[in-house]
Amino acid sequence: MVAMTDAKIPTEEELRERLTPLQFEVTQHAGTERAFSGEYWDNHDPGVYSCIVCGTPLFRSDAKFDSGTGWPSFWEAIDPAKVELIEDRSHFMRRTEARCATCGAHLGHVFNDGPQPTGDRFCMNSASLRLEPDSPADDAETPAEG
Ligand SMILES: [Zn+2]
Repeated sequence: MVAMTDAKIPTEEELRERLTPLQFEVTQHAGTERAFSGEYWDNHDPGVYSCIVCGTPLFRSDAKFDSGTGWPSFWEAIDPAKVELIEDRSHFMRRTEARCATCGAHLGHVFNDGPQPTGDRFCMNSASLRLEPDSPADDAETPAEG
């Protein structure tokens, strides 16, 4: 079977082995980690937040802001096409669910009370993301003058 993209989408068995139980619950069963419990809500390191399941880059640390909610929050995705938005009517609320468009992993929800310029608030679970830190010096390969 050939996938539409070249991103590798792991099987459920692989995921159970690779992910923590919380990461599995959040991404595969649309769970939510406890506020202020995740790895990234208070992380300010520069880098790219990728999907924990398939590795697709989803958010830049530049677009991360302190929402006070206890979940990592972003005002925009790197590429809107990489984040699928789905109307979610569960829990007697109407919310917008965000999923990884590549592998379908649940990421969190999107609200419209975020900061400008977008006004969007991507309220994500740390358990759905993996931060790939920027390398400290991109010009390290440049040889010193000599
Ligand atoms: Zn994914």
